[in-house]
Amino acid sequence: MARYTGPVCKLCRREGEKLFLKGSRCLTNKCAMERRAYPPGQHGPQRQFRRGRASDYLLQLREKQKARRIYGLLERQFSNYFKNAEQQPGLTGSNLLILLESRLDNVVYRMGLASSRAHARQLVSHGHVVLNGRKIDVPSALVSAGDTVAVRAESTSRPYFRDLRQEYDDRQAPRWLSVNPEALSAEVIDLPKREDIDVTLNEQLIVEYYSR
Ligand code: SF4
Repeated sequence: MARYTGPVCKLCRREGEKLFLKGSRCLTNKCAMERRAYPPGQHGPQRQFRRGRASDYLLQLREKQKARRIYGLLERQFSNYFKNAEQQPGLTGSNLLILLESRLDNVVYRMGLASSRAHARQLVSHGHVVLNGRKIDVPSALVSAGDTVAVRAESTSRPYFRDLRQEYDDRQAPRWLSVNPEALSAEVIDLPKREDIDVTLNEQLIVEYYSR
């Protein structure tokens, strides 16, 4: 599946906030939002993040773009998730976020196996992850309650995973995942609820964007 391959810090600067797309670098003073806190482009330094009063459309568009960038999706993929969310019972905005959180690459990231969702996506597509014991190299695969996600047995001896195991205890997994640090695995206790998802998104604006 296609993915964005351009400079990711530019995406944060476009949205005017840290989206944490680069793992540990985002927490250092090398972060582009610390060094160049203005929008990208030739005239960026002369501009501010928000000029005047933003229109409703602009707010809706920016929120949709922000969500798309956080989860590393292209427009077509994202709008398909939205259509899927609309067909489910309940609040479309919450359904959308729950669907996005259920992606296998996101679960790998939330488990603490990767420093960013892009890194998690790479671990999955390189075949280092098993879902219910079966190797799955599709980052968009959706997990369900009761599923188990783990590092493939053959991959655990790799230096990356060996080192990870040493520091794995320190990482924070959400309460909807039951992590086993020794086995580098996690069971999905239940799919997350909206209040379990700690992304700073106003999903109602995304619903309004697609309802125009
Ligand atoms: Fe965004 Fe991280 Fe780049 Fe900072 S370092 S601009 S938070 S992707």
